Amino acid sequence: MSKTKITRKIVGYAVKQAPVKDAVADNAEPRRETPETGRAEVIRMHEKLERPEMLIGSTYKVKTPVSDHAMYVTINDIVLNEGTEHEKRRPFEIFINSKNLDHYQWIVALTRIISAVFRKGGDVTFLVDELKAVFDPRGGYWKAGGKFMPSIIAELGYIVEKHLIMIGLLAKPELNEEQRKLIEQKRAEFEAAAKQQDAFSKSEYPEGAQLCAKCSTAAVIMMDGCMTCLSCGDSKCG
Ligand SMILES: [Zn+2]
Repeated sequence: MSKTKITRKIVGYAVKQAPVKDAVADNAEPRRETPETGRAEVIRMHEKLERPEMLIGSTYKVKTPVSDHAMYVTINDIVLNEGTEHEKRRPFEIFINSKNLDHYQWIVALTRIISAVFRKGGDVTFLVDELKAVFDPRGGYWKAGGKFMPSIIAELGYIVEKHLIMIGLLAKPELNEEQRKLIEQKRAEFEAAAKQQDAFSKSEYPEGAQLCAKCSTAAVIMMDGCMTCLSCGDSKCG
């Protein structure tokens, strides 16, 4: 029996240099809008878009009870069509730094893939839901304010969400006037009825509130035989 050994080894990879003459590479045509009106071209997010020398970014500090060290998440943005009516700030890359190297290879892989998705362009907001849905089978943890984090990855999802809201790619989830009134009324009734003195409680919601399946906040109380969430207004009785 002959031995066939795989001797090929990947020793490195070439980095393809984007042409310097333009901000967009040659085959970028399909993504470009060339209006017949004679206006300037609109540059859209595109994977061959060359990284500018300088990007503006935001760094978020994350301290979880599952690690001794804080995690620093940096998201850098690119500004497209600056100074025009089509000016748009889009996420370009993400980095995570921590002294904790337990999950280093997974963190590097995750951030490279998220960065690649950012640079692909199109709608990247689906990342938020995908990340937020990840749960750690060893158990999640509680955040200050009574929010439950099913995993560190989910927390990363909330950070990306926060960032996308900040740069205007995602709308801030807002309650309508009716929901806000209902929440306020229910809360007042509940606190009056139970004569709760929760001044020393860490949570901003009444003591004994249960976890809401919709918004993951311990803010669900029983009112008039009906479970109602004081955070998002979710109610079992409509
Ligand atoms: Zn809720």
